[in-house]
Amino acid sequence: MADRPHNKALVHSPELDSLGYPDSIPFDTSRAGKAIAALDRMGLLDGPDRSVVAPEPAPLDMIERFHTRRYLDALRRAAEGEHNLDFLAMGIGTPDCPVFPEMFSYPRLACGATLKAADLLASGEAGIAFNPSGGYHHADPERAAGFCYINDVAIGSLVLSEQVDRLMVIDVDVHHGDGVERAFYSRSDVMTISFHESGRFLFPGTGFEDDIGEGEGRGYAVNVPLPPGTYDAVYLRAFDAVAVPLIRAYRPDIIVLEVGMDALSGDPLAHLSLTNNAYCSVIRRVMAADRPLLATGGGGYHVENTARGWALAWAVLCGADEDEGSQAGLGGVMIETTDWAGGLRDRRLPPTDRQRRTVDPKVDATIRKVRANVFPYHNLDETHEA
Ligand SMILES: [Zn+2]
Repeated sequence: MADRPHNKALVHSPELDSLGYPDSIPFDTSRAGKAIAALDRMGLLDGPDRSVVAPEPAPLDMIERFHTRRYLDALRRAAEGEHNLDFLAMGIGTPDCPVFPEMFSYPRLACGATLKAADLLASGEAGIAFNPSGGYHHADPERAAGFCYINDVAIGSLVLSEQVDRLMVIDVDVHHGDGVERAFYSRSDVMTISFHESGRFLFPGTGFEDDIGEGEGRGYAVNVPLPPGTYDAVYLRAFDAVAVPLIRAYRPDIIVLEVGMDALSGDPLAHLSLTNNAYCSVIRRVMAADRPLLATGGGGYHVENTARGWALAWAVLCGADEDEGSQAGLGGVMIETTDWAGGLRDRRLPPTDRQRRTVDPKVDATIRKVRANVFPYHNLDETHEA
């Protein structure tokens, strides 16, 4: 794919800002618009090599490639105010997935944005496409879960997988990418890798080291569960020890990256301690594969930190963020403030000694276990240093 274009597309429209989730759940759909406003203020949003592209609602037949018609009917009818116990059995009307008027139109448009990104990559119009309003990785074919109604990641990946030999989905949301993993669990032409806070501590309670796929797909689902307190350096150690060798060995034609920002320190729903510097490093490592890249948003419940993280992600995807080694651009933003004047990057957050003592052995044990479970399927030496 040497002739791959260098254009980057950010998929968004004001309509995504005007629709959205109710205030009763912590999933705040204003984050994408806030990221875009910040990029615009900084002059990073568009340029000769990048543009903002508007999505259209996902066609129903595309959504039905993954979700059942019965479920989509239920979503639509619930959105129109109908009450039915069958809906609840499908996860509709739970505290995590409440009923509200836009519960069909908003997820459908967000899914359309991921499909637009997939189209731009498949047609060669873009080499990198980012939908910060996407990333609904928990939804199943007939079940809403974890603030997710329509699984745009699974649907976009399904579409792309038909056009290439090998697709890789990397999920760095703090929650296990369970719905996406299940969609491809028995396939070897789609490899899923999820880094997440361990299901022992966090929703959805799945995604352990021994969950590696089934049948043809055995060795092609990869889970890296991480303990609370996981910090930048140890997270990147795990990414370098597991994901980087697998990217090299699998040689995906296209990479999908779910960039939930809820692994950031201070996220109110989770317990990892990353800064957005770690996200930058992850994105750079994925970009080093030099494959077409579809990035989506995802979770992220500290609204300002999440918006800033996605703004930074776009800057990194465009090769426009400040120098990684420069201290000058790093100091302006405290984790808990909304002052963006000093740049998009978080301050470094060094671990405490206690954090190192509790986190490091657990992460290193997980790395060893995952490599032992998965690497033999890819002719990788599990004992080789990362
Ligand atoms: Zn999440």
